[in-house]
Amino acid sequence: MVKAIVGACWGDEGKGKITDMLAADADIVIRFQGGSNAGHTIINDYGKFALHQMPSGIFNPNTVNIIGTGVAFNVPYFVKELNYLKENGLENPKVLISDRVQLMMPYHIAFDTYEEARLSDKQFGSTKSGIAPFYSDKYAKTGIQICDLFHEDVLKERITAACEVKNVLLEHLYHKPLLDAEAIYEEVLSYRDLVAPFVVNTVEYLNKALKEGKTILLEGQLGALKDPDHGIFPMTTSSSTLAGFAAVGAGIPPHSIEKVYTVAKAYSSAVGGGAFVSEIFGDEAQELRVRGGDAGEFGATTGRPRRMGWFDCVATRYGCMLQGTTDVAFTAIDVLSYLDEIPVCVGYEMDGVVTKEFPVTPLLEKAKPVYEVLPGWKTNIRGITKYEDLPENARKYVEFIEKEIGYPITIVSNGPKRNEIIYR
Ligand code: GDP
Repeated sequence: MVKAIVGACWGDEGKGKITDMLAADADIVIRFQGGSNAGHTIINDYGKFALHQMPSGIFNPNTVNIIGTGVAFNVPYFVKELNYLKENGLENPKVLISDRVQLMMPYHIAFDTYEEARLSDKQFGSTKSGIAPFYSDKYAKTGIQICDLFHEDVLKERITAACEVKNVLLEHLYHKPLLDAEAIYEEVLSYRDLVAPFVVNTVEYLNKALKEGKTILLEGQLGALKDPDHGIFPMTTSSSTLAGFAAVGAGIPPHSIEKVYTVAKAYSSAVGGGAFVSEIFGDEAQELRVRGGDAGEFGATTGRPRRMGWFDCVATRYGCMLQGTTDVAFTAIDVLSYLDEIPVCVGYEMDGVVTKEFPVTPLLEKAKPVYEVLPGWKTNIRGITKYEDLPENARKYVEFIEKEIGYPITIVSNGPKRNEIIYR
């Protein structure tokens, strides 16, 4: 049984918690895309953890955690995270790394910073983790695979070739110090012993696991609107955030994915630039941001205050459609308990016409939200574990949104802890 857990919109929907929960009975958890640019926050018996690169099944002693081929793999970060987990009582975390995963190189991070500085006020709001330069190199075929570490001649040749091109840009475009291929080679070669115990042919491993009927979880980062093909391009990320890509980034057959859990938060928040139709501002936004404090509305990796908004049915319906959703996990509904009335964006108005279809970027910039206002419930709903025990207006909120987006909400999360969950 293979399940994917992915985001409906901009990310930070609470995928970490849902993954941690579902990982409890998963044999294998796989990261299939992205890098250390986004974080999951997980609260469990070991404490509160911000995971950046490690799959969320890492806390479960029976789960094997895999860094899939589609990931932008940052070795120093991986080692740091592994040590951090060990220091916090996790004795023997089980991790495997795909032998074909590509390496985040020191120059990717430098180029990310240089490019954002060059773009100045037109910058993308990158986390400067090197993600865009990394994936650019992968598709330009100048990336470095982890297996190259075990073939020194190949490694040296590939780094030298990459540096040749990069040095032209450094000299003439960015006016920065040039790269020394030899020094980079030495630095990267030092990664070899650190990763060697974990590197395997994960495709063969997973093929065998599938035959044995193991339970496998595919763990996405960010959300559908950040997908470079279908999202709010160019304010997207650089690898696909869709469940469809999970098969590629993990290395399993597409038809093996039986369940797609799309995580959607009960209100909206986003980091970085780009159109955000149901965005709210000022005191109204600040109140929601502070109330969502538990929901980490200051960015797990970046610490930046997030942009806030009301729930967006247009964006979420589109995101769920792209993901191929079988189940929606609806999170952080507890955060809304202070509101008398809750606006929900049910349409976009562009040039006097209202639509429920998510538009292309140039039109999205012009879209104005059309709201329907629902009554609040004004009572603490944390600790409730049965759907029927939620106040009527909270249930109405869930059911209204379920109808608008057209996908079944089968999980409702009413607090950051693992047991603060309602199955419908
Ligand atoms: P991800 O980027 O989708 O993985 O988002 P995270 O897993 O980092 O979740 C963002 C924040 O939401 C974290 O601080 C979680 O602890 C918190 N969170 C998750 N579910 C809930 C919930 O139902 N209620 C509240 N209040 N916080 C939640």
